[in-house]
Amino acid sequence: MPNQAPPAVIVAGGGPVGLIVALMLGRAGVAVTLFDKGDIVHSEPRAATIHPATLDLLDDLGVYALIEPQGIVCPIVNYYDGKLLLASFDHALLKGETRHPWVLQCEQDKLSRTLFAMAQAVPGITFRTDTKVIACGQRADAVDVVVETAGGRQERHQERHQARYLVGADGARSIVREAIGVAFEGFTYPERCMIVGTPYDFAADGYAYRNYIADPEEWYNLFKISWTGPPGVYRLIVPARLDEPLDGDHALATAQRKLQRFNPRPHDYEIVIYDSYAVAQRVAATFRKGRVLLAGDSAHLNSPIGAMGMNSGIHDAVSLAENLIRVLHGEDGDAALDRYVRQRRHVATAHVQTATIANKQNMEQRDPVKRQRYRDDMLRRAETPALASAFLMRTALIDSLRDAAGIA
Ligand SMILES: Cc1cc2nc3c(=O)[nH]c(=O)nc-3n(C[C@H](O)[C@H](O)[C@H](O)COP(=O)(O)OP(=O)(O)OC[C@H]3O[C@@H](n4cnc5c(N)ncnc54)[C@H](O)[C@@H]3O)c2cc1C
Repeated sequence: MPNQAPPAVIVAGGGPVGLIVALMLGRAGVAVTLFDKGDIVHSEPRAATIHPATLDLLDDLGVYALIEPQGIVCPIVNYYDGKLLLASFDHALLKGETRHPWVLQCEQDKLSRTLFAMAQAVPGITFRTDTKVIACGQRADAVDVVVETAGGRQERHQERHQARYLVGADGARSIVREAIGVAFEGFTYPERCMIVGTPYDFAADGYAYRNYIADPEEWYNLFKISWTGPPGVYRLIVPARLDEPLDGDHALATAQRKLQRFNPRPHDYEIVIYDSYAVAQRVAATFRKGRVLLAGDSAHLNSPIGAMGMNSGIHDAVSLAENLIRVLHGEDGDAALDRYVRQRRHVATAHVQTATIANKQNMEQRDPVKRQRYRDDMLRRAETPALASAFLMRTALIDSLRDAAGIA
């Protein structure tokens, strides 16, 4: 953009992570430009669970009060082995540890719309939608970012931009991560996950609003979301083998089969949401190269079991924005950004990867000895309040935030 002072920070990607970075920087008086290759407010089914630690952070930003009415407050989470209820945990056990001893079931697109509206009201934040970051480079005192944008008649043209820092919040297939040559270490599971939404009321079959169901043949996560408003829909996440048909009309038939296997009934389920996606466990080799920083899915990916991807991404965003603000205001040296990397990369590997890999193993465990151990552990936790609250401190990501805060 000619004749305009360059922003201090460019953010690539307007998912929840990029939006929070931009919102916090803008509010602190830092000039930001955010580029998104789409329209920011995607509506494909993705994250829907916001954990207590994240609710506290969103509350600090003034976001919680706006999203609570759009979601469902869920204090209870149930763990099953097949049809057998092993444990029912109440987040009320976390009173005193969090201001929000419950989970909010609120879809990611609602959160993004809310954040986008808030950030648009902040002077100093420039949003450029339909504008894709295609390359970046850096010098001692600046980053150079090349974007491709649709012209009036949809022909593409390129622009060059400059800033002091670039934040790559451009998701799993991050071009920023690729441009700075950072490896995305880990693996992709040899199966997909299917997400199926139905207005059928599983509460009538005794399910809570949040349920994890272990099954050696086909595990399930069953969560209620408010969707377009009450009464809401139940969303089932279920694995799909690579040889199961998942395209076009076949996907709908597969979704129906999954629901029927989970809870057989004489009639077809009404299906209002269905999609499938690959699942990976990966962490970027570093979250920083000079003036370029990574956060959210561009820095780490995990399975949806445990609902930690967006939550930990939001924790990255808050930490990164706080550190960048201090650096840009001259209150801290550039090394504060390395502390961000140490803290948040530690959480990605030691907490999120470890927990989500273990969650999947527990959900699909076929070894009878290990399966029994999982059952025994859950039963013990359910009966012992101290074990239950230690368990919830981990699943609610409160432990991970405290652990990170202790890293210098
Ligand atoms: C089915 C499903 C269920 C999930 N459930 C949960 C859950 O319950 N809880 C949870 O915590 N997580 C969950 N996740 C994970 C969660 O969706 C992601 O972790 C989250 O979206 C990450 O946010 P982000 O802002 O880092 O990236 P994204 O949301 O992917 O946003 C990236 C943005 O960058 C833009 N972009 C991409 N490339 C470029 C480019 N080159 N230039 C400019 N813009 C670009 C995209 O348009 C997009 O807007 C789930 C994921 C799936 C698929």
